[in-house]
Amino acid sequence: MSSIRDEVTSIMETLGVSAELYQGGTLSVRTPVTGEIVASVRVTSAEEASAAIGRAATAFRTWRLVPGPRRGELVRLLGNVLRENKDLLGRLVSLEVGKIPSEGLGEVQEMIDICDFAVGLSRQLCGQVIQSERPEHRLMEQWHPLGVVGIISAFNFPVAVWSWNAALALICGDSIVWKPSEKTPLTALATIALFKKAIAEFGEVPEGLSELIIGEAEIGKLLSEDERVPVVSATGSTRMGRAVAEVVARRFGRSILELGGNNASIVAPSADLEMTLRAVAFGAMGTAGQRCTTLRRLIVHSSVYDQLIPRLRQVYAAIQIGNPLEEGSLVGPLVDGAAFTAMQSSLEAARKAGGTVHGGERVLVNGEESFYVRPALVEMPSQMGPVLEETFAPILYVLKYETPAEAIALQNNVAQGLSSSLFSNDLREVEVYLSAAGSDCGIANVNIGTSGAEIGGAFGGEKETGGGRESGSDAWKGYMRRQTNTINYGLSLPLAQGVKFDV
Ligand code: NAD
Repeated sequence: MSSIRDEVTSIMETLGVSAELYQGGTLSVRTPVTGEIVASVRVTSAEEASAAIGRAATAFRTWRLVPGPRRGELVRLLGNVLRENKDLLGRLVSLEVGKIPSEGLGEVQEMIDICDFAVGLSRQLCGQVIQSERPEHRLMEQWHPLGVVGIISAFNFPVAVWSWNAALALICGDSIVWKPSEKTPLTALATIALFKKAIAEFGEVPEGLSELIIGEAEIGKLLSEDERVPVVSATGSTRMGRAVAEVVARRFGRSILELGGNNASIVAPSADLEMTLRAVAFGAMGTAGQRCTTLRRLIVHSSVYDQLIPRLRQVYAAIQIGNPLEEGSLVGPLVDGAAFTAMQSSLEAARKAGGTVHGGERVLVNGEESFYVRPALVEMPSQMGPVLEETFAPILYVLKYETPAEAIALQNNVAQGLSSSLFSNDLREVEVYLSAAGSDCGIANVNIGTSGAEIGGAFGGEKETGGGRESGSDAWKGYMRRQTNTINYGLSLPLAQGVKFDV
């Protein structure tokens, strides 16, 4: 047995995952760190998935009646269990996805943060009281639990995305069915084992409150087709989101879509270039370019281009690529060989379109089965071809601009609308960027990069990113149903808009 396989087994055992779930199954799990198989996970059959959804639907009928603050108590306990096991779960994220340790731990911290947020929220699922036009009437709205929340998640944030959805769904009175990425079932099994510890401390919860179904796209499709699932929260590629959205809309379900990004930063003449350099390096190369918010396009004013780009090229040439488990590595592996091939074909397309490619080559770190690359910086003559697409790898396209209007147009002129940022110290320019005529993205930052969002704000993007919002602010409303109530406490029956209907 390899040492990574041993370590995975040891973590799974410590976290209380039964060996039969990840040994001897048909779904092979490879670690991107070395490319070797570290587990064989048991896959959920269609019948088992349907039964799991049925259990979740039954559990909902009980859970919706538990008072919100009591539901919050379960999420508070989940946060505690995650705190206690942060190191182990964070390490497992690093082993299964290939993230550097601080990013693996950061992902678990994000889970803890959303639990804290949701606990407070469990006492604040507030509706409003609205002035009625009729005497002795009260008009108000309430938020009620919605039902089973289906969660389909991507490989790159294998546990945080579950927690953004699960923490809110649970306090909102919903039950959950999770279909994790087929590339990351181990962290999903571990997360559910930890959730079971929180449940054990909490006491009784209805059976089926949280279900896990494991498999490829087919199992996700079953979840999105099922009429017992009123809301499907799907995170992944735009291609997947389009398929899920169509299926869910056909049955008048609700979908929360968190799809691909093509994120840009604009560097204005007044930008602090030191700050810009650091933010760009993390945004474009962190997580080996495999974040939905990864910086993919850098739109630089011609007056600072020759100061910034040569320095950025030096940073790209010197960045430490290596085994993410070893001290000092900043860029770990791509998830698999398919990601490497996709990166190379985008670089080839960029060359053909007149781009100058710096870096992008394969770096052999741990043999032929793992895929490490030097991040690529690509100077493009114009925004075309591969620049218009999301390639899930560390490629940063650089473009030049002359006027602020041109920069905003370049930034917005792509199909995706997730994250964006402007580096500038010019107040007017900043305000225009944040105005209705500025960035068209769900996230628009100033003097920070495009990635690394906090859980307090609503997270998500427009256009082909899908329009969904998760995490903070009032994203919880997506997990509840709104009910408007008009109550007459008088003795007469006045009709709205002065309508007379005397019988
Ligand atoms: P993917 O689309 O290949 O898979 C995501 C999930 O969808 C997996 O669980 C997969 O099994 C499932 N799936 C695929 N086809 C399906 C279908 N037809 N019906 C139901 N389920 C289906 O994505 P990936 O490669 O795992 O992740 C990378 C992508 O995710 C990138 O595009 C990235 O930008 C995006 N992403 C977006 C966000 C966000 O919040 N906007 C966050 C993380 C990742």
